[in-house]
Amino acid sequence: MKKLNKVLLMLVVLMTVSTSTVATAAITTSHAGHGGVDPGAIGNGYKEADIARMINNQIVAKSGAVDATDNSAISVNDNLSKIVNKVNLNSNGTSWNLSNHLNSASPAATGVEVFYYAGDPVGKAKAEQVSAAIANVLGIPNRGAKTADLYVIRNTKGHSLLIEWGFISNSGDVQKLLTKMDTVTTEVVKLFNSTINPVPPVTPPVNPVQPPTTGFARSYNETGTMCATERNWVKDTPTKAARLVEYQSNGQAIKYHKVVWSDGIVWLQLTGWDGKQRYVAYSDATQGNGFGRKYGYCQ
Ligand SMILES: [Zn+2]
Repeated sequence: MKKLNKVLLMLVVLMTVSTSTVATAAITTSHAGHGGVDPGAIGNGYKEADIARMINNQIVAKSGAVDATDNSAISVNDNLSKIVNKVNLNSNGTSWNLSNHLNSASPAATGVEVFYYAGDPVGKAKAEQVSAAIANVLGIPNRGAKTADLYVIRNTKGHSLLIEWGFISNSGDVQKLLTKMDTVTTEVVKLFNSTINPVPPVTPPVNPVQPPTTGFARSYNETGTMCATERNWVKDTPTKAARLVEYQSNGQAIKYHKVVWSDGIVWLQLTGWDGKQRYVAYSDATQGNGFGRKYGYCQ
């Protein structure tokens, strides 16, 4: 019996070793699309950088890819150039590099889209597969493969795909992504690798998705501190035509207690020196891809 136990133990050891063998890293690098001072887009109580990190951690663990995330940037441009440097240190002309983002637009916008370099037909084919796989698992619209002149895609070696996994401005997209993150990241890694490294399942974060409230197009309570990344105007209502009450200098900190979608802008709401409610524009809600942000984490 002892001998049999030894044989069984050997078998278990062998099986364990074979299943935990590191998969061929067909994904060469993967990164969260924002970090350092740059939180990316804000929506439904979440920051894009945080969800992108969760996705990226799953992909890195399952695929064995190099993590090219940057967490030390002092500006949006600094974040982009540090990501590109990390990617290019580990890539050549045949590498696959993934950039993980969430889209942002009106609360109704929904679905997944994957950007590829315009002159890369191989990248286009893979982008179509990735977009279809994510749409299928999450049950959200497949917006498909797209090209755009995006800095990270343009400046990295090999094939680069920028994945917009869903809209952070859409509560349904966010909920589906958080609850199905394990399955959806596995399906994407499978498109590059034949084996998946076993990793612990994702625990969805505790902060609940806030339901839309009346009064504005949409709002939710979130408190935080951000610093202006340029000279910004402070307004007395969350509208483009509102009165300009004062301005904030580049680097100046604000404490906000609400995030408001109104008039095509994502606003941070704060209490002014006189106790009245004030609003500063965080980003253009109609622009997508998290561009146009005027506030970031304070340095
Ligand atoms: Zn982004």
